[in-house]
Amino acid sequence: MLTAAVARGEDVTAVLSRPDKPAASLRAEERDGRTYLSLNDAVAALDGTMTFDERTRSYEVKLKGRSAVFGVDAALAVVDTKLVPLGAPVRGQGALAWAEPEFFQRVLGPMAGLSLTWDRATRALSVRKGEIAEIAVEPSVADLGEMTKVVFRFSQTPSYAVEATAEQVVLHVPNARLSATSSERLLDSPRVARLLVRGGDLTIVFREKGLLANVYALGAPPRLVVDVTRRTSGAPGARTPGLANGPPPASRAKTVVLDPGHGGVEEGARGPGGLFEKDATLALTKTVQEVLQRRGYRVVVTRSSDATVGLDDRAAAANAAKADVFLSIHCNASRAATAHGTEVYYLSLDASDRAAALLAESENAAPAATPNTADKNAAVRDLDLILWDLAQNQHLSASARLAEIVQADFNRLLGITTRGVKQAPFRVLIGVNAPAVLVEVAFITNPDEEARIGSDEFRRQVADTLAGSVDTYFRTADDVAPVPYAPKPPGKS
Ligand SMILES: [Zn+2]
Repeated sequence: MLTAAVARGEDVTAVLSRPDKPAASLRAEERDGRTYLSLNDAVAALDGTMTFDERTRSYEVKLKGRSAVFGVDAALAVVDTKLVPLGAPVRGQGALAWAEPEFFQRVLGPMAGLSLTWDRATRALSVRKGEIAEIAVEPSVADLGEMTKVVFRFSQTPSYAVEATAEQVVLHVPNARLSATSSERLLDSPRVARLLVRGGDLTIVFREKGLLANVYALGAPPRLVVDVTRRTSGAPGARTPGLANGPPPASRAKTVVLDPGHGGVEEGARGPGGLFEKDATLALTKTVQEVLQRRGYRVVVTRSSDATVGLDDRAAAANAAKADVFLSIHCNASRAATAHGTEVYYLSLDASDRAAALLAESENAAPAATPNTADKNAAVRDLDLILWDLAQNQHLSASARLAEIVQADFNRLLGITTRGVKQAPFRVLIGVNAPAVLVEVAFITNPDEEARIGSDEFRRQVADTLAGSVDTYFRTADDVAPVPYAPKPPGKS
């Protein structure tokens, strides 16, 4: 008699209450002065699923893209990959499981992004007030070749869990109510049909089934990036059958975008003899353009006169021209009059050394865009930039290879080997959706090099050298697989 009474406990009801939804009733049991709540009921109320594995006598809960596994023997649960110790094991009865409120507070609540309090008198599990953060989110979408990038920009750094199916990918942001200008956006992107912002969920609905979504976080400003691709695009070099009928890629004239540094009110560096960098880079660019065009390249320049062109406008011009390669041409400056030689840079958000950082700082001093454009399109441009700093990321390995080729060719030209390829956060490279390097051809602050920069012969040598580098780059480009950008872990920006 006594045993049976203890085994059954006293059937009661508890409640799960949330501010945004009607309260859910939970089966409960009082036994030995403790309260056990039905896990099955709570999981169902939270829109999760729960399965029981008879062989291992363990349960698995799936909720908001996360999973928890626990058994009846050990006082712990494995949430995703983390062990959560508990005061007592859950109690099981076949597929039905019961647990003390602690389990809901330490396991289920965090999985659902809810901070739960337990009130024993009313047997109520409630979401703690004020725990839900209001986070503004601004989605933007860009189709970059084989990839669609969806970027969510947040007003504060979110934690998140990813739930992907064949039709969509959902980013769950726990403890948050997300707000966007519109909760639903229809898109004409080839890979993404719709974006939804609902509660703490961001949903990307695919245009077709089975697309691949790669999610990663970036900081400053806090962003979540979702790269949506077809599965086959992960295998570079693989020719899709449809392409077999078209012209082979090599037959298309490659587009080289040349970007003469500075211009107009932006004079750049100045040599001791009075040569302005903006004039030197324009003259150099014109010669490079001639040589490349003779070799069959399509050449687009970001300026062809002494005009002020914003850094972002240069990248925009390159993207509009569908650049295969972007070369930004500059002349170096140093306090040391003897500094000489060529330096080649590609993009990094961190500079490879102090000198590279200083150089990037001075080259970045130019206006981000022409004032007119900035006034008109400030908001749009801001969003574009967020996409653009990602645009160059996917070309970093190609940019590095191009930079190595250019550097090696210039070392041969100048007979020096001391100045290597460097990385620095050059703003002009950030938005370019193509392999891009910045070449500091020579030091305008060195009197000897200033004189050379001003000579036709040197310009011709530079042009032949650069054109040779571009030839080498394209000759070998098709054999080299692009290496995807490896994002830094969340929290580091
Ligand atoms: Zn410059």
